[in-house]
Amino acid sequence: MCPRLDSAIVVRMTDLNRYTLAYVLSILESYVFSRPRSVLFVVREDVVQVVSKLAEEYRTVIVMYSLMTPQIFELVREFTELRRLRKTHDNILLVAGGPHAAGDPRGTLTRLKFDIAVLREGEITIPKLLDVILYRAGDLHEVPNIAFIEGNDVVITRFEICSNILSFPPCSERHGLYAPIEIMRGCRHACKYCQTPRLYNFRVRYRSLDYVYTWVRHYFRRGLKIIRFLAPNGFAYGSPDCKTPRPDKLERLLKTVHEACEGKASINLGVFPSEVRPDFVKREVLDIVVKYVSNRRLAIGVQTGSNRLLREIGRGHDVECVYEAVDLAIEYGFVPYIDLIFGLPGETEEDIEETIKLMRYLAQRGCIIRGHTFMPLPGTPYEKAPPGKIHPKYIPVLEELARMRRLEGYWREQEEIAQLIHRYLTSSDPLVQE
Ligand code: SF4
Repeated sequence: MCPRLDSAIVVRMTDLNRYTLAYVLSILESYVFSRPRSVLFVVREDVVQVVSKLAEEYRTVIVMYSLMTPQIFELVREFTELRRLRKTHDNILLVAGGPHAAGDPRGTLTRLKFDIAVLREGEITIPKLLDVILYRAGDLHEVPNIAFIEGNDVVITRFEICSNILSFPPCSERHGLYAPIEIMRGCRHACKYCQTPRLYNFRVRYRSLDYVYTWVRHYFRRGLKIIRFLAPNGFAYGSPDCKTPRPDKLERLLKTVHEACEGKASINLGVFPSEVRPDFVKREVLDIVVKYVSNRRLAIGVQTGSNRLLREIGRGHDVECVYEAVDLAIEYGFVPYIDLIFGLPGETEEDIEETIKLMRYLAQRGCIIRGHTFMPLPGTPYEKAPPGKIHPKYIPVLEELARMRRLEGYWREQEEIAQLIHRYLTSSDPLVQE
């Protein structure tokens, strides 16, 4: 029998985590490059069989997931089988990251039965964590931004974020994954349903123009015809408070991108995954954006047509601002794609009527409505709120909008997932059975 190799790092790819994975893989690829006795595997299916085989060949097998809360239910069986495999292979270690692990570290360890939860900042956290696990360089208490179980306690280590986001590539050459280029991380708004600002304690950072230039250039040379970006608010680049647009900085960004791709690639900003807030859809911003971008869609996060509910959920803008943003976007030649969330906590019949009024206006102006159902997410003020339900008053309007081809979205499926999440977040039973 051949001697066991050092370590295998297995990364689970799912349909939903491809973009995140490109960033995680770039960190891991750099790690295994500097420590050649570790080998990296990306697995899309048959994870349990693959891990089982690797556990025979390698001294340590680290299995890594990046999780979003709505996903966990479809992966429970897989988690359970991996946990069972551990009974016969104590060299397997299960690590979870992503917004779910950050929002619910305790549950990730005690109810999904992971060994370690990574809570943020993979760039600084993952290499330190791997050094401790694989090379015994220090102990877990010294690794920032993680949670693990010690005796009967859950230990959460110190919070640490880097003032400048470390410059790992946004892509994995080896696996052919080219993610949208991150230009902004974190958010200083406080929408009560959203995990993003809470992941980084309401801090916001922007990628440097050098970073953006380097990777746009790289993507262009690799033949990518469309350059996409990742940002909680695509028009907020450079805004120190995240609340006031900085058209000058946005223009420098777009000019940099334009130069990097020699004006020959399509630049997409303001559509997934760089949607915008309505209070950033201003004339001085659009004057700049239209000079550079190719997308004709503009995705605007609105969530409800009720001023009362906009205040309640902490959006920080009113519905009048939405009507203005829509009119302005159309004037500049965009088709607005408007995100709305049905069944938000405390939504009243009056709120619903206001939202229906907005939806009718949007449809009449040629906008597309992207409907969502409210899903309570861990780590947000609404984590224990009741799951969203589509009120019967919405149904005929949604049906009519669908017939008019003015409606998109997974609100029906999300209504069911919201129930599952609510049940999970309001109980303490393990989801993964050993
Ligand atoms: S929904 Fe958008 S604006 Fe609101 S907190 Fe989340 S990322 Fe920020």
